[in-house]
Amino acid sequence: MKTWEKYSDFLLKGEWHVHTCYTDGKNNIDEYCQKAVDIGLPLIAFTEHVRKNLDYDFHSFLSDIEIAKEKYDLIILSGCEAKVLPYGELDVSTGVLKEIDYPIFAFHSFPKDTDLYFESLKKVLKNRYMNTWAHPGAFLMKNGLELPEEQLVDIFHSMNKMDVLLEINNKYQVPSDIWKNLSSKLGVKFVKGSDVHNVEHLFFNI
Ligand SMILES: [Zn+2]
Ligand SMILES: [Zn+2]
Repeated sequence: MKTWEKYSDFLLKGEWHVHTCYTDGKNNIDEYCQKAVDIGLPLIAFTEHVRKNLDYDFHSFLSDIEIAKEKYDLIILSGCEAKVLPYGELDVSTGVLKEIDYPIFAFHSFPKDTDLYFESLKKVLKNRYMNTWAHPGAFLMKNGLELPEEQLVDIFHSMNKMDVLLEINNKYQVPSDIWKNLSSKLGVKFVKGSDVHNVEHLFFNI
């Protein structure tokens, strides 16, 4: 069972993609939680950037989340945004994945090769920890690439089977309407994640 299934009422009402000052975000966990409560957000997920070799104290990140959980009347999830590497490895340690609620994955820098992209994505979707595909298709769009429909259908089938969510990301304006229509027909569920980097970008909108 994936963590999101426990909070499925909040998939489009919470904010499921937030970065803090542990990496490239501007605010700390306490400031985000205060703002979330102020604007009536029911859920916030901290999906910090990770690598296999972390350059910040992950336990301190988790302990800040525990402190915030005691302080605020808000669903607060620990998470990470792991980068997909060629051939479908993820740039995150299994130790981190075991400790958090909500691991998500994304394509950032990657070879401009759609077959490798497809193959890598298929492998990542089998990872039992992954909850969500973050800013789906943004890498392809930015590079003027497209997946053939049969590969898309294959991907969305796998997402449905593995209970992996498709992130609706208004910052990147993804997924496209074509992806949204096709994925929802194939039973894929959506989650709101805005890749928030400061409290000013935390909104209560559905
Ligand atoms: Zn990202
Ligand atoms: Zn992000």
